[in-house]
Amino acid sequence: MTTPPPPPAGQEPPGAPMPPGPPDAAPTPGTPPPPGTPPPPGPPPGPPDAHPLPPAPVQLPPSVSIQGVKAAYGRIEVIHGVDLEIPAGSVFALLGPNGAGKSTLLATISGRMHPTHGQVVIGDRPNGRTSPEALARRGICSIPEGRGVFPNLTVRENLRIWTYSGGASLADVEEKAYATFPRLSERRKQLAGSMSGGEQQMLAISRALVTNPKVLLLDELSMGLAPLIVSELYQLVGRLAAGGMTILLVEQFVTTAADVATDAAIMVQGRIQQVGTPEEMAHAALGIYLSSKDVNNF
Ligand code: ATP
Repeated sequence: MTTPPPPPAGQEPPGAPMPPGPPDAAPTPGTPPPPGTPPPPGPPPGPPDAHPLPPAPVQLPPSVSIQGVKAAYGRIEVIHGVDLEIPAGSVFALLGPNGAGKSTLLATISGRMHPTHGQVVIGDRPNGRTSPEALARRGICSIPEGRGVFPNLTVRENLRIWTYSGGASLADVEEKAYATFPRLSERRKQLAGSMSGGEQQMLAISRALVTNPKVLLLDELSMGLAPLIVSELYQLVGRLAAGGMTILLVEQFVTTAADVATDAAIMVQGRIQQVGTPEEMAHAALGIYLSSKDVNNF
């Protein structure tokens, strides 16, 4: 058996961490075609610098459609019928005050909660009552508020755990994480719980780097972090999206979120109040903030 050639920079190698996507998913870019496959249509390649071709189109990740979703804790309903379309490949910022139901909505998308009414459809597949683990295997990665790292494990041990869900080796995973966040390399033997908030968030985001999900759900990336770190992390979010991911981020730092987002909405008291451009929504959110009786509520 011959070894397939290495993929171009920035693409996942064949047999990369995420399992195959839905049946309609196109082959992983960079995967060599099976023997006997006719060459793709198009002009024959010219000299390298004659007519540079535009970059190959990135395979669009799935859209997320939230349809009439209601959700409750016990008998207390906190989401009262949300309709929201997260376009494929977008970075969608969900803004809103504390207690609006943003985290609960993320929980219904990731399968940690099931709607009491309505449905979530990712790509063309309704979630139904699919478990979070099964959705994770389909490429839905949720990084919850509070970082989602194991505090009593070292950086390296946390990274090792993420290799269990796919075919990547620890060496590959470490290389990718440390190349993106050199600071994690210096801390590889340190317990995650003893690192700074920013470092823990870098470790949490490394999960998305190494599992290469199709849909990434980020809850309050900026929580408790210095603005410089937040801006560094959001630059990475922008790069992840450009590489072909649909990203839904819940954020209270409206201007920071608006810088990286392509679409946005405001959620208030379990309902979507407005949908629009990130700039419009950041402006509107500021208005809600200023009119709020509790200034700490946004
Ligand atoms: P924040 O920005 O403060 O995280 P949020 O917009 O994410 O707020 P949620 O955390 O989704 O809001 O909470 C929505 C409502 O559900 C709130 O009234 C909250 O008190 C309630 N709630 C959240 N988690 C639970 C729970 N585990 N049990 C009962 N009620 C809950």
